[in-house]
Amino acid sequence: GFDDDRSDYKIIIGDHIAYRYEIQHILGRGSFGQVCMCFDHKSKEQVAIKIIRNQIRFHRQARIEMRILHELKSQYIENYAVTMLENFKFRKHWCISFEPLGANLYEILKSNGFRGFSQLFIKKISFQLLSCLKNLKDNRIIHCDLKPENILLRKTQKEGVKVIDFGSSCFLNEKIHVYIQSRFYRAPEILLGINYNEAIDMWSLGCIVAELHLGYPLFHGESENEQLLCIMEVKGLPPEHLLGKAAKRKNYFEGNLVKNMLNSRGKRRVPGSKPLEIIIKNTDEKFFDFLNRCLEWDPELRLDPVAALAHPWLLD
Ligand code: ATP
Ligand code: MG
Ligand code: MG
Repeated sequence: GFDDDRSDYKIIIGDHIAYRYEIQHILGRGSFGQVCMCFDHKSKEQVAIKIIRNQIRFHRQARIEMRILHELKSQYIENYAVTMLENFKFRKHWCISFEPLGANLYEILKSNGFRGFSQLFIKKISFQLLSCLKNLKDNRIIHCDLKPENILLRKTQKEGVKVIDFGSSCFLNEKIHVYIQSRFYRAPEILLGINYNEAIDMWSLGCIVAELHLGYPLFHGESENEQLLCIMEVKGLPPEHLLGKAAKRKNYFEGNLVKNMLNSRGKRRVPGSKPLEIIIKNTDEKFFDFLNRCLEWDPELRLDPVAALAHPWLLD
Protein backbone atom coordinates (compact mmCIF):
# COMPACT_ATOMS: atom_id res chain seq x y z
CA GLY A 1 0.00 0.00 0.00
CA PHE A 2 0.89 3.65 -0.28
CA ASP A 3 0.11 4.71 3.29
CA ASP A 4 3.01 3.23 5.24
CA ASP A 5 5.28 3.60 2.23
CA ARG A 6 8.87 4.09 3.32
CA SER A 7 9.44 6.22 0.22
CA ASP A 8 7.64 9.04 2.06
CA TYR A 9 9.78 11.40 4.13
CA LYS A 10 9.05 11.03 7.83
CA ILE A 11 7.79 14.41 8.92
CA ILE A 12 8.40 15.44 12.52
CA ILE A 13 7.07 18.80 13.67
CA GLY A 14 9.91 21.01 14.92
CA ASP A 15 12.58 19.19 12.90
CA HIS A 16 14.68 21.10 10.39
CA ILE A 17 14.83 20.36 6.66
CA ALA A 18 18.22 21.10 5.12
CA TYR A 19 19.30 22.74 8.43
CA ARG A 20 17.22 25.75 7.50
CA TYR A 21 13.48 25.10 7.34
CA GLU A 22 11.74 24.36 10.63
CA ILE A 23 8.67 22.17 10.09
CA GLN A 24 5.54 23.78 11.60
CA HIS A 25 2.62 21.74 10.31
CA ILE A 26 1.43 19.59 7.43
CA LEU A 27 -0.50 21.45 4.71
CA GLY A 28 -1.43 18.56 2.51
CA ARG A 29 -0.64 15.13 1.23
CA GLY A 30 -0.84 13.91 -2.32
CA SER A 31 0.27 11.02 -4.42
CA PHE A 32 3.69 12.59 -4.97
CA GLY A 33 4.57 13.39 -1.41
CA GLN A 34 3.76 15.75 1.41
CA VAL A 35 3.59 19.50 1.71
CA CYS A 36 4.39 21.22 5.00
CA MET A 37 4.50 24.75 6.29
CA CYS A 38 7.98 25.67 7.46
CA PHE A 39 9.74 28.65 8.97
CA ASP A 40 12.74 29.58 6.87
CA HIS A 41 15.44 30.66 9.33
CA LYS A 42 17.38 32.30 6.49
CA SER A 43 14.70 34.58 5.04
CA LYS A 44 12.78 34.69 8.36
CA GLU A 45 9.60 33.93 6.46
CA GLN A 46 7.18 31.05 6.16
CA VAL A 47 7.44 28.81 3.12
CA ALA A 48 5.50 25.76 1.92
CA ILE A 49 7.75 22.80 1.12
CA LYS A 50 6.74 19.89 -1.06
CA ILE A 51 8.80 16.84 -0.08
CA ILE A 52 8.67 14.30 -2.87
CA ARG A 53 8.65 10.55 -2.36
CA ASN A 54 11.95 8.77 -2.77
CA GLN A 55 11.11 6.61 -5.77
CA ILE A 56 12.48 6.67 -9.32
CA ARG A 57 9.23 7.63 -11.07
CA PHE A 58 8.59 10.46 -8.61
CA HIS A 59 12.18 11.71 -8.98
CA ARG A 60 11.71 11.80 -12.73
CA GLN A 61 8.40 13.66 -12.46
CA ALA A 62 9.87 16.04 -9.86
CA ARG A 63 12.58 17.06 -12.32
CA ILE A 64 9.90 17.96 -14.88
CA GLU A 65 7.90 19.82 -12.24
CA MET A 66 10.98 21.82 -11.23
CA ARG A 67 11.85 22.60 -14.86
CA ILE A 68 8.35 23.92 -15.54
CA LEU A 69 8.26 25.94 -12.31
CA HIS A 70 11.67 27.34 -13.17
CA GLU A 71 10.42 28.40 -16.60
CA LEU A 72 7.41 30.13 -15.03
CA LYS A 73 9.54 31.80 -12.37
CA SER A 74 11.74 33.45 -14.98
CA GLN A 75 8.74 35.40 -16.28
CA TYR A 76 8.22 38.88 -14.99
CA ILE A 77 4.49 38.91 -15.57
CA GLU A 78 1.59 37.89 -13.33
CA ASN A 79 1.09 34.33 -14.47
CA TYR A 80 -1.30 33.11 -11.76
CA ALA A 81 0.90 30.09 -11.07
CA VAL A 82 2.41 29.41 -7.66
CA THR A 83 5.93 30.83 -7.28
CA MET A 84 8.70 28.34 -6.66
CA LEU A 85 11.37 29.71 -4.34
CA GLU A 86 14.06 27.03 -4.28
CA ASN A 87 14.56 23.38 -5.04
CA PHE A 88 17.07 21.01 -3.49
CA LYS A 89 17.64 17.43 -2.50
CA PHE A 90 17.60 16.50 1.18
CA ARG A 91 18.14 12.94 2.43
CA LYS A 92 17.28 11.41 -0.93
CA HIS A 93 14.11 13.47 -1.28
CA TRP A 94 13.59 16.19 -3.83
CA CYS A 95 12.16 19.25 -2.09
CA ILE A 96 10.56 22.30 -3.62
CA SER A 97 9.84 25.42 -1.58
CA PHE A 98 6.95 27.68 -2.51
CA GLU A 99 5.31 30.90 -1.42
CA PRO A 100 2.68 29.87 1.14
CA LEU A 101 -0.90 30.03 -0.11
CA GLY A 102 -4.26 29.60 1.60
CA ALA A 103 -7.08 27.08 1.36
CA ASN A 104 -7.88 25.26 -1.86
CA LEU A 105 -11.17 25.69 -3.73
CA TYR A 106 -12.44 22.26 -2.74
CA GLU A 107 -12.06 23.19 0.93
CA ILE A 108 -13.83 26.49 0.33
CA LEU A 109 -16.73 24.76 -1.46
CA LYS A 110 -16.93 22.31 1.43
CA SER A 111 -16.93 24.99 4.12
CA ASN A 112 -19.73 26.65 2.14
CA GLY A 113 -21.81 23.47 2.48
CA PHE A 114 -21.31 22.65 -1.24
CA ARG A 115 -23.80 25.34 -2.24
CA GLY A 116 -21.67 26.92 -4.94
CA PHE A 117 -20.43 30.48 -5.34
CA SER A 118 -21.85 33.74 -6.68
CA GLN A 119 -21.48 34.56 -10.37
CA LEU A 120 -19.21 37.49 -9.54
CA PHE A 121 -16.76 35.32 -7.61
CA ILE A 122 -16.86 32.61 -10.31
CA LYS A 123 -16.07 35.21 -12.97
CA LYS A 124 -13.11 36.53 -10.99
CA ILE A 125 -11.67 33.05 -10.52
CA SER A 126 -12.33 32.12 -14.16
CA PHE A 127 -10.49 35.19 -15.38
CA GLN A 128 -7.44 34.28 -13.31
CA LEU A 129 -7.48 30.62 -14.32
CA LEU A 130 -7.80 31.54 -18.00
CA SER A 131 -4.93 34.00 -17.68
CA CYS A 132 -2.86 31.16 -16.22
CA LEU A 133 -3.87 28.79 -19.05
CA LYS A 134 -3.14 31.41 -21.69
CA ASN A 135 0.35 31.84 -20.34
CA LEU A 136 0.89 28.08 -20.10
CA LYS A 137 -0.28 27.67 -23.69
CA ASP A 138 2.05 30.46 -24.87
CA ASN A 139 4.85 28.44 -23.29
CA ARG A 140 3.59 25.14 -24.68
CA ILE A 141 2.96 23.75 -21.23
CA ILE A 142 0.00 21.49 -20.39
CA HIS A 143 -0.96 21.48 -16.71
CA CYS A 144 -2.67 18.06 -16.88
CA ASP A 145 -4.20 18.16 -13.40
CA LEU A 146 -6.39 21.22 -13.11
CA LYS A 147 -8.99 20.67 -10.35
CA PRO A 148 -10.37 22.57 -7.33
CA GLU A 149 -7.78 20.98 -4.95
CA ASN A 150 -5.02 22.44 -7.11
CA ILE A 151 -6.35 26.01 -7.05
CA LEU A 152 -5.42 27.91 -3.90
CA LEU A 153 -6.52 31.24 -2.47
CA ARG A 154 -3.85 33.86 -2.07
CA LYS A 155 -2.94 34.90 1.45
CA THR A 156 -3.00 38.63 0.85
CA GLN A 157 -5.43 39.44 -1.91
CA LYS A 158 -9.05 38.52 -1.18
CA GLU A 159 -10.65 36.54 -4.03
CA GLY A 160 -7.30 36.02 -5.73
CA VAL A 161 -6.21 32.50 -6.67
CA LYS A 162 -3.13 30.70 -7.93
CA VAL A 163 -2.71 27.39 -9.71
CA ILE A 164 -0.45 24.84 -8.00
CA ASP A 165 0.76 21.29 -8.59
CA PHE A 166 2.72 21.06 -11.82
CA GLY A 167 3.63 17.52 -10.76
CA SER A 168 1.78 15.96 -13.71
CA SER A 169 2.48 18.74 -16.19
CA CYS A 170 4.44 18.42 -19.40
CA PHE A 171 5.67 20.35 -22.40
CA LEU A 172 3.54 19.90 -25.53
CA ASN A 173 6.42 18.30 -27.41
CA GLU A 174 7.40 15.98 -24.54
CA LYS A 175 4.16 14.23 -23.70
CA ILE A 176 4.97 10.93 -22.04
CA HIS A 177 1.79 9.85 -20.29
CA VAL A 178 -1.57 8.82 -21.73
CA TYR A 179 -3.22 8.23 -18.36
CA ILE A 180 -3.50 11.73 -16.94
CA GLN A 181 -5.85 14.20 -15.21
CA SER A 182 -8.04 13.50 -12.19
CA ARG A 183 -11.06 11.50 -13.34
CA PHE A 184 -13.85 14.07 -12.81
CA TYR A 185 -11.88 16.64 -14.83
CA ARG A 186 -10.51 14.23 -17.46
CA ALA A 187 -11.02 15.33 -21.07
CA PRO A 188 -12.84 13.06 -23.55
CA GLU A 189 -9.70 12.70 -25.69
CA ILE A 190 -7.89 11.19 -22.69
CA LEU A 191 -10.81 8.89 -21.86
CA LEU A 192 -11.07 7.79 -25.49
CA GLY A 193 -7.34 7.52 -26.18
CA ILE A 194 -6.93 10.25 -28.79
CA ASN A 195 -3.89 12.46 -29.32
CA TYR A 196 -4.18 15.45 -26.99
CA ASN A 197 -2.89 18.98 -26.50
CA GLU A 198 -3.42 22.02 -24.24
CA ALA A 199 -7.16 21.82 -24.89
CA ILE A 200 -7.41 19.15 -22.16
CA ASP A 201 -6.87 21.92 -19.59
CA MET A 202 -9.80 23.88 -21.06
CA TRP A 203 -12.06 20.86 -20.58
CA SER A 204 -11.00 20.70 -16.92
CA LEU A 205 -11.64 24.43 -16.62
CA GLY A 206 -15.20 23.97 -17.94
CA CYS A 207 -15.81 21.21 -15.37
CA ILE A 208 -14.39 23.39 -12.57
CA VAL A 209 -16.43 26.48 -13.50
CA ALA A 210 -19.61 24.36 -13.56
CA GLU A 211 -18.67 22.92 -10.15
CA LEU A 212 -18.08 26.35 -8.64
CA HIS A 213 -21.67 27.15 -9.66
CA LEU A 214 -23.25 23.83 -8.66
CA GLY A 215 -21.17 23.16 -5.56
CA TYR A 216 -20.44 19.57 -6.61
CA PRO A 217 -18.63 18.01 -9.59
CA LEU A 218 -20.51 18.18 -12.91
CA PHE A 219 -19.32 14.76 -14.11
CA HIS A 220 -18.53 12.41 -11.22
CA GLY A 221 -17.87 8.96 -12.60
CA GLU A 222 -16.74 6.18 -10.26
CA SER A 223 -14.66 4.66 -13.07
CA GLU A 224 -13.38 5.67 -16.51
CA ASN A 225 -16.41 3.97 -18.03
CA GLU A 226 -18.88 5.84 -15.86
CA GLN A 227 -16.96 9.07 -16.42
CA LEU A 228 -17.60 8.81 -20.16
CA LEU A 229 -21.22 7.82 -19.43
CA CYS A 230 -21.67 10.95 -17.30
CA ILE A 231 -20.38 13.11 -20.15
CA MET A 232 -22.55 11.33 -22.72
CA GLU A 233 -25.59 11.65 -20.47
CA VAL A 234 -25.23 15.41 -20.84
CA LYS A 235 -23.78 15.70 -24.33
CA GLY A 236 -25.02 12.67 -26.22
CA LEU A 237 -22.68 10.38 -28.14
CA PRO A 238 -19.24 11.63 -29.22
CA PRO A 239 -19.01 12.66 -32.90
CA GLU A 240 -18.09 9.83 -35.26
CA HIS A 241 -14.89 11.50 -36.48
CA LEU A 242 -13.52 11.44 -32.92
CA LEU A 243 -14.56 7.84 -32.31
CA GLY A 244 -12.74 6.92 -35.49
CA LYS A 245 -9.47 8.09 -33.88
CA ALA A 246 -10.15 6.60 -30.46
CA ALA A 247 -7.65 3.93 -29.45
CA LYS A 248 -9.87 3.03 -26.49
CA ARG A 249 -13.15 2.93 -28.45
CA LYS A 250 -13.62 -0.80 -27.76
CA ASN A 251 -13.49 -0.16 -24.00
CA TYR A 252 -16.80 1.67 -24.24
CA PHE A 253 -18.50 0.75 -27.51
CA GLU A 254 -19.45 -2.28 -29.53
CA GLY A 255 -19.73 -0.84 -32.99
CA ASN A 256 -21.78 2.27 -32.28
CA LEU A 257 -23.57 0.88 -29.25
CA VAL A 258 -22.62 1.73 -25.69
CA LYS A 259 -21.38 -1.49 -24.09
CA ASN A 260 -22.38 -0.85 -20.49
CA MET A 261 -24.74 1.91 -19.36
CA LEU A 262 -24.76 0.85 -15.71
CA ASN A 263 -22.43 1.77 -12.88
CA SER A 264 -21.54 -0.62 -10.02
CA ARG A 265 -24.72 0.27 -8.11
CA GLY A 266 -26.89 -0.42 -11.15
CA LYS A 267 -27.52 3.24 -11.94
CA ARG A 268 -28.28 3.67 -15.64
CA ARG A 269 -27.00 6.64 -17.61
CA VAL A 270 -28.57 7.17 -21.01
CA PRO A 271 -26.73 9.32 -23.58
CA GLY A 272 -28.40 12.68 -24.13
CA SER A 273 -30.93 12.22 -21.32
CA LYS A 274 -29.70 15.05 -19.10
CA PRO A 275 -28.78 18.13 -21.14
CA LEU A 276 -26.69 20.87 -19.55
CA GLU A 277 -29.64 23.29 -19.37
CA ILE A 278 -31.35 20.86 -16.98
CA ILE A 279 -28.36 20.80 -14.66
CA ILE A 280 -27.36 24.46 -14.85
CA LYS A 281 -30.65 26.14 -14.00
CA ASN A 282 -31.62 29.79 -13.55
CA THR A 283 -28.54 31.32 -15.02
CA ASP A 284 -27.93 33.66 -17.86
CA GLU A 285 -27.57 32.55 -21.44
CA LYS A 286 -23.95 33.78 -21.57
CA PHE A 287 -22.78 31.57 -18.71
CA PHE A 288 -24.47 28.61 -20.30
CA ASP A 289 -22.84 29.35 -23.68
CA PHE A 290 -19.42 29.75 -22.04
CA LEU A 291 -19.70 26.34 -20.36
CA ASN A 292 -20.97 24.65 -23.49
CA ARG A 293 -18.02 25.90 -25.49
CA CYS A 294 -15.47 24.78 -22.90
CA LEU A 295 -17.13 21.38 -22.88
CA GLU A 296 -16.94 20.67 -26.61
CA TRP A 297 -16.18 17.04 -27.47
CA ASP A 298 -13.82 18.08 -30.23
CA PRO A 299 -10.69 19.77 -28.83
CA GLU A 300 -10.39 21.73 -32.10
CA LEU A 301 -13.77 23.36 -31.50
CA ARG A 302 -13.30 23.95 -27.78
CA LEU A 303 -12.69 27.55 -26.63
CA ASP A 304 -9.02 28.34 -26.19
CA PRO A 305 -7.91 30.61 -23.34
CA VAL A 306 -7.74 33.74 -25.52
CA ALA A 307 -11.22 33.23 -26.97
CA ALA A 308 -12.56 32.36 -23.52
CA LEU A 309 -11.13 35.57 -22.05
CA ALA A 310 -13.02 37.50 -24.75
CA HIS A 311 -16.31 35.65 -24.18
CA PRO A 312 -19.31 37.94 -23.40
CA TRP A 313 -19.91 36.14 -20.07
CA LEU A 314 -16.54 37.36 -18.78
CA LEU A 315 -16.80 40.81 -20.32
CA ASP A 316 -20.03 41.55 -18.44
P1 ATP B 1 -1.77 15.26 -6.16
O1 ATP B 1 -1.98 13.97 -5.46
O2 ATP B 1 -3.04 16.05 -6.26
O3 ATP B 1 -1.05 15.16 -7.44
P2 ATP B 1 0.60 16.38 -5.10
O4 ATP B 1 1.23 15.32 -4.30
O5 ATP B 1 1.09 16.61 -6.47
O6 ATP B 1 -0.93 16.16 -5.13
P3 ATP B 1 0.28 19.20 -4.45
O7 ATP B 1 -1.05 19.22 -5.09
O8 ATP B 1 1.33 20.03 -5.08
O9 ATP B 1 0.82 17.70 -4.25
O10 ATP B 1 0.12 19.62 -2.94
C1 ATP B 1 -0.71 18.87 -2.05
C2 ATP B 1 -1.56 19.78 -1.21
O11 ATP B 1 -0.70 20.58 -0.38
C3 ATP B 1 -2.41 20.78 -2.00
O12 ATP B 1 -3.66 20.28 -2.39
C4 ATP B 1 -2.53 21.93 -1.00
O13 ATP B 1 -3.61 21.72 -0.11
C5 ATP B 1 -1.21 21.89 -0.23
N1 ATP B 1 -0.28 22.87 -0.81
C6 ATP B 1 0.52 22.70 -1.88
N2 ATP B 1 1.26 23.80 -2.16
C7 ATP B 1 0.91 24.72 -1.24
C8 ATP B 1 1.31 26.10 -0.97
N3 ATP B 1 2.20 26.74 -1.74
N4 ATP B 1 0.73 26.72 0.09
C9 ATP B 1 -0.18 26.09 0.87
N5 ATP B 1 -0.60 24.82 0.67
C10 ATP B 1 -0.07 24.12 -0.36
MG1 MG C 1 -2.38 18.16 -6.11
MG1 MG D 1 0.08 16.46 -8.33
